Amino acid sequence: MSESKDELRKRLGEETYRVTQEKGTEAPFSGLYDQFKEAGLYRCTVCGEKLFSSEEKFDAGCGWPSFSAPAEAGKVVEKEDTSYGMHRKEVICKNCGAHLGHVFPDGPKPSGLRYCINSVSLKHQPNA
Ligand code: FE
Repeated sequence: MSESKDELRKRLGEETYRVTQEKGTEAPFSGLYDQFKEAGLYRCTVCGEKLFSSEEKFDAGCGWPSFSAPAEAGKVVEKEDTSYGMHRKEVICKNCGAHLGHVFPDGPKPSGLRYCINSVSLKHQPNA
C-alpha cells in the first residue's frame, strides 16, 4: 500500500487503526455491527475487499459480529496467534493484511466455525 502509516492513521481514525494495524480488539458489545441485521456485504474497512456477507452472519452472543464463513473462499487468511497466553487463529484480510478478528471452532453447522470480527474492521454495504 502506498499510504504512509501517518496517512493511514489519519484516514482510518485511532480506533480503527489500532484494531486493523496493531491487532487490537474493540470492546465487546460496543461495535456498530454487533446487533446489526441488515442484508448486504461487509467489506474490509481498509481496502474495500469483499470479506463477509449478511447471509453467514449470526448472533453468537459474544459481543462481536460473527460469521460462519467468509463471503468467498480465499478472501481471508488464518494465522496462528499465541499472544496473551492463548492459542487462537487470527483472521486477516488477504488483500491488505488488516487484522479482522479471530476464528473459533464453536460456530453453527455445517462449517462449525465462528469468525469473530471487529466491527471497525468492516464496512457494511447494503444490497443494491
Ligand atoms: Fe483489506
